[in-house]
Amino acid sequence: MTALTPQLESLYDEILRRNPGEAEFHQAAREVLESLGPVLVARPEYATAKLVERLVEPERQVMFRVPWVDDSGTVRVNRGFRVEFNSALGPYKGGLRFHPSVNLGIIKFLGFEQIFKNALTGLGIGGGKGGSDFDPRGRSDAEVMRFCQSFMTELHRHLGEHTDVPAGDIGVGGREIGYLFGQYRRITNRWEAGVLTGKGTGWGGSQARAEATGYGNVLFTAEMLRHRGQDLEGLQVGVSGSGNVALYSIEKAQALGAHVLTASDSSGYVVDEKGIDVALLKQIKEVERGRISAYAERRGGAARFVAGGSVWDVPVDIALPSATQNELDENAALTLVRNGVKAVSEGANMPVTPKAVRVLQEAGVAFGPGKAANAGGVATSALEMRQNAGRVSWDFAQVEQELATIMRDIHRTCVETADRYGTPGDNVAGANIAGFERVAAAMLDQGVI
Ligand code: NDP
Repeated sequence: MTALTPQLESLYDEILRRNPGEAEFHQAAREVLESLGPVLVARPEYATAKLVERLVEPERQVMFRVPWVDDSGTVRVNRGFRVEFNSALGPYKGGLRFHPSVNLGIIKFLGFEQIFKNALTGLGIGGGKGGSDFDPRGRSDAEVMRFCQSFMTELHRHLGEHTDVPAGDIGVGGREIGYLFGQYRRITNRWEAGVLTGKGTGWGGSQARAEATGYGNVLFTAEMLRHRGQDLEGLQVGVSGSGNVALYSIEKAQALGAHVLTASDSSGYVVDEKGIDVALLKQIKEVERGRISAYAERRGGAARFVAGGSVWDVPVDIALPSATQNELDENAALTLVRNGVKAVSEGANMPVTPKAVRVLQEAGVAFGPGKAANAGGVATSALEMRQNAGRVSWDFAQVEQELATIMRDIHRTCVETADRYGTPGDNVAGANIAGFERVAAAMLDQGVI
């Protein structure tokens, strides 16, 4: 761990004391605090106004019971969460995660990251996150619908296009957003398109929203390489995950001439020397909701399935971790470095552990932190809100063009900010500081609230 200034160290102690057992939140907060020392020296008024102390405390946290009935008639009870972290720049914005691992600490880490990520996009969105420990895997469409309806029956009172605007995340895709929107509309008797993003493109959704996080991460990676006089064409790419972010990372990397070798899920990974067949992977994971081993079976001899194990054992030039938090540890980073990796960019939120980040940075590997690299998803959600507010819809090319401009700007902001604070090439510091500066300026203007 990097040392903190005495003031930030005592704030970190206070975070540990006030938020016991929330390991992921501690990790996310510590990573940001490690970047902020020089900013508080340069801007003492931020320290006086206790901006960091206020930032680490959510504006509001909601936890609620979600009762529902499964197909066999059994009553089930899950827990729902929404953490409304910071609204200095706009309505709370951030996805909903449905996964059995979800707890308050995970939602708080995601919500905290979201504040800085959303600020980096340059758009008017605050930070929030929510979800439930409900596991949609193996559940029928009818069960998922009943769960979503019960979840929204409570959550709706906290939402609104000017208040809090959720989207998808792990376990929440187009199907779930549809059911959630339907219940919101029914309860409120309002067609309030801007209350959720990631909607179907036939009823208020934006073109390219589904693609945006994965496409954006590949565009960010291309920018990091360009900055070093390299490009993606012909490089070997490793992707983890096989959900929304992974699928569209694979698609975009291939479109830019890279060769994508891997994909994974929680059961293991596949290696396809001929390059991942993204249409087949989409069919298996998105349409059939099957397991990744089916991909290897249907590719005949072209691909192999490895149960368990680490996808990062496969030698690649570029690694795009796109599954979940802390999936790429120090050992995996050492293996990647030994195999000559050039760049690692986080499609998922916090997939690379702090020790692994250090290994990569010390080896001179270009590193894209999720706050910056996967911000294309939320940025396009903000473009969806803009289209909803104007009752217009843009075509795919227009949204993709806006996304490309935003990703280029985020990369430039990271580079310029890291240079300004004397840490050239450190995109972690660049992203944390640039995101903080924008939120901090707004909080200072708006007084002690
Ligand atoms: P999905 O639910 O669509 O896909 C998640 C994928 O990751 C699945 O293939 C899942 O496998 C796999 N996975 C989950 N946990 C593990 C694990 N422990 N080990 C290996 N694989 C695992 O989610 P998304 O693609 O939307 O999200 C992926 C990541 O990207 C998350 O960190 C999310 O917060 C982040 N993100 C998403 C954005 C978006 O727009 N969707 C925006 C910005 C960040 P399985 O099917 O076996 O569970």
